[in-house]
Amino acid sequence: MVVEGRIFVQSFLGKLFPSSNQQSVNFARRRNFSVHCISEKANKTMEKKSLMWFRKGLRLHDNPALLRACQGASHVYPVFVLDPFYLAPDPTAPSPGSTRVGVNRIRFLLQSLENLDENLRKHGSRLLLLHGNPTTVIPALLSKWHINELCYEFDTEPYAQDRDADIKKLATKEGVEVFSPVSHTLFNPVDTIQKNGGNTPLTYQAFCKIVGKPPPPVDAPSHIPCPPEDLNNVEVVAVPTLEELGYINLVEEFSPHPGGETEALRRLDDSLADQKWVCDFEKPKGNPTAFIKPATTVLSPYLKFGCLSCRLFYQKLLAVYSRSKKYSKPPVSLEGQLLWREFFYTAGYGTPNFDRMYGNPICKQIPWKDDDQLLAAWRDGRTGHPWIDAAMVQLRKWGWMHHLARHAVACYLTRGDLFVYWEKGRDVFDRLLIDADWAINNGNWMWLSASAFFHQYHRIYSPITFGKKYDPDGLYVKHFLPVLKDMPKQYIYEPWTAPLAVQKKANCIIGVDYPRPIVDHAIANKECRERMGQAYALNKETGGHPKQEQVDALNDRLEAQFPVVESESDNAPSAPPKQSPKKAVKKVSRSPKEEPSGKRQRKLTDYKTPTKKK
Ligand SMILES: Cc1cc2nc3c(=O)[nH]c(=O)nc-3n(C[C@H](O)[C@H](O)[C@H](O)COP(=O)(O)OP(=O)(O)OC[C@H]3O[C@@H](n4cnc5c(N)ncnc54)[C@H](O)[C@@H]3O)c2cc1C
Repeated sequence: MVVEGRIFVQSFLGKLFPSSNQQSVNFARRRNFSVHCISEKANKTMEKKSLMWFRKGLRLHDNPALLRACQGASHVYPVFVLDPFYLAPDPTAPSPGSTRVGVNRIRFLLQSLENLDENLRKHGSRLLLLHGNPTTVIPALLSKWHINELCYEFDTEPYAQDRDADIKKLATKEGVEVFSPVSHTLFNPVDTIQKNGGNTPLTYQAFCKIVGKPPPPVDAPSHIPCPPEDLNNVEVVAVPTLEELGYINLVEEFSPHPGGETEALRRLDDSLADQKWVCDFEKPKGNPTAFIKPATTVLSPYLKFGCLSCRLFYQKLLAVYSRSKKYSKPPVSLEGQLLWREFFYTAGYGTPNFDRMYGNPICKQIPWKDDDQLLAAWRDGRTGHPWIDAAMVQLRKWGWMHHLARHAVACYLTRGDLFVYWEKGRDVFDRLLIDADWAINNGNWMWLSASAFFHQYHRIYSPITFGKKYDPDGLYVKHFLPVLKDMPKQYIYEPWTAPLAVQKKANCIIGVDYPRPIVDHAIANKECRERMGQAYALNKETGGHPKQEQVDALNDRLEAQFPVVESESDNAPSAPPKQSPKKAVKKVSRSPKEEPSGKRQRKLTDYKTPTKKK
């Protein structure tokens, strides 16, 4: 049976567990094993059947929800629901994948599920995979399998919060115990905000002062009671292949980072094996163009899917530090990176409309451009700036790029060169990254666009000298943009300056085989700074909360100051870019005026909205 439609959880469970309906516990406030247990009486009279609902947290180690599901259970049903909405190929999408998710992340998820199944099988259990919408499938399974305990990891994302609230309400109404511990993050964001007097900490320093040390990871269960053979006509499926999902004839290079807990643990050990490297680690000192052996751990996709516990990572990291006299410290150390992750999770949890500009109290209101042509050139690696394009191709092909490459491309799209909405770039990252993470991605996009957290908008990365500093020979560019592989290194970051004879010899005519730059950086970044300066002034004058009309009026003034002049088709092979200030960017359109949706407003019941600017 493929479960469809909403089937209500069997009511006899409510009769068996009359006390549970009265136990109104806010699970978000509780950790690990502190949440209510099935009553003693009930335990004696009925076997415990747990449904372990995997979403993130695709692992056996440090999984308190799984551990709890196993305790005293006769059967544990380990379930994952594959939502077709996220998986179905979208032929109109700009690169292989569904509308929402690029093919690399789909592949990473499938590999992680396969590995989870393998690891469960080592314990005599197995993964029960179903297709459908979890909000209908999970309640139906509770009923079909006579489940009396539902366990899943607490998830802070707005979509998950709404989904889980609905399911929890339904389950508890029917007498099913719900256990939802925090284990995706080191700390519980709810606790952190409470410790800060109900205000969300909005600086890393303030955050670090509050949090203290995280709890240690818990062991993997020693015994996982298996699900019964008879699943009461519920049809479970094997982990599909990409081809089975409809992804055929894929020609692009895949991410070299396979998914799964086993690989995550291997990679963690591998990353921490070199004590000197760990103790000397300082970001942003690494080389963003190192792609064969990246300069950072590349553990982010494993943390994103929860193949790796951040608490285990933290514990093992501290063990390495403890063996060394000297080691780097937050914010630049590896420990500091894990704390950045926590910081953004907490900020994201406590800030209404964290994923948008409008209605977001910490985000500067800036009249960005809604220019899809510029956006598409950036997204598809066609800006004509090889460093930017190579990084965007790496993103598309591998689903990952180094932190500083993310800095470079995000700055270029927003306040550096193109002045396009940060939310548009965020969406591209959200689709293509294998580590795409709601809180971290939004937080960093606000940072890089100088919309929140970071305000030195005049500090702009050059799309020419930034990559050159790390990789003067252009090996990174040549790998991801093979069209430039024979371009002499002195022109690799500015191929439009190469004489025509050189371009011909390199089999790459600029404007024909590879685009000329869509903007002249020197001109565009000056214009961007001017725009940012005026937007910042408006935000200051209005106490950080300009009205929509004021932002619109500023947009009009900026449009008048920097009128749109369509550049003539200028692809003459050897000509350098000849943009005047007026042609620095091609098209300006007004910012969308959508209102913040009520749905996404966080329900601020147990803490105050941050009102103060830091
Ligand atoms: C515009 C932009 C968007 C980003 N989007 C994401 C995203 O969607 N998902 C994501 O995981 N990271 C994101 N980052 C943060 C960072 O670039 C990646 O976490 C990091 O590059 C991942 O590589 P790593 O695992 O080798 O990191 P390492 O340097 O080895 O760090 C270890 C872990 O610390 C965490 N971490 C590191 N840097 C940051 C940071 N700046 N903020 C928060 N956590 C951090 C990650 O979980 C990472 O795996 C973004 C950065 C920028 C500038």
